[in-house]
Amino acid sequence: MKILTAVKRVVDYNVSVRVKADKSGVETNGVKMSMNPFDETAVEAATRLREAGTASEVVAVSCGAPQSMDVIRTALAIGADRGILVQTEAVLQPLAVAKLLKTMVDREQPQLVILGKQAIDDDANQTGQMLAGLLDWPQATFASAIEVSGGVVRVTREVDGGLETVEVNLPAIVTADLRLNEPRYVTLPSIMKAKKKPVETIDAQSLGVDVTPQLKTLSVEEPAGRKGGIIVPDVAALVDKLKHEAKVI
Ligand code: AMP
Repeated sequence: MKILTAVKRVVDYNVSVRVKADKSGVETNGVKMSMNPFDETAVEAATRLREAGTASEVVAVSCGAPQSMDVIRTALAIGADRGILVQTEAVLQPLAVAKLLKTMVDREQPQLVILGKQAIDDDANQTGQMLAGLLDWPQATFASAIEVSGGVVRVTREVDGGLETVEVNLPAIVTADLRLNEPRYVTLPSIMKAKKKPVETIDAQSLGVDVTPQLKTLSVEEPAGRKGGIIVPDVAALVDKLKHEAKVI
């Protein structure tokens, strides 16, 4: 069984993001970028399935600018066997990524595609679902456990109020939630080893996919700053404020 994983380069989750002066988006110049955390979980899950002998190969795909090669290298260091960079300087929205990934699925014929449940830059949570739609494959999103056997994948999903277990036939799309696993620490030897793994670069334009954005960002605003707090002298003063100022009791 071949597994394809999708990995996106995003602003590192430790960076406090700043809005660009013209409010057109978030500043990415001179900012630390990393693999989307949910995608690390996806690559780890795929790698564990290969290590367990359930999968034979893990291919990591990233769509974007040449710098996205970094996250492919990270995926290879975690354990993916091969990488594909679908290169474009175009701004990619989820539908465009889903279309590009579909061309890779058509080409690679994996039985399972594991994506992150969402990219932490735009929080779209759409690509996996759109890819399933384009391929007409079943999908199991927000996975916190995956078990593959006999042509089906059993997925435990994190839903409001608890856990739901679903079974879908392969080929299928799964999107990873954070509790699926704890991605391994990428060591220097694994980074060195990853340098020898094959990576292919494909010009997105050669795939004949329309990546024109369907949405226009009108404006990006910083959240309102928090008002300073106050210290109340005693419980009675606190209750009084909650009653008469905050009006919450
Ligand atoms: P989103 O729908 O943008 O929240 O992204 C959901 C998931 O789709 C991510 O966690 C990735 O696995 C995948 N994805 C999104 N954008 C890209 C991209 N440019 N290249 C590769 N995978 C992507």
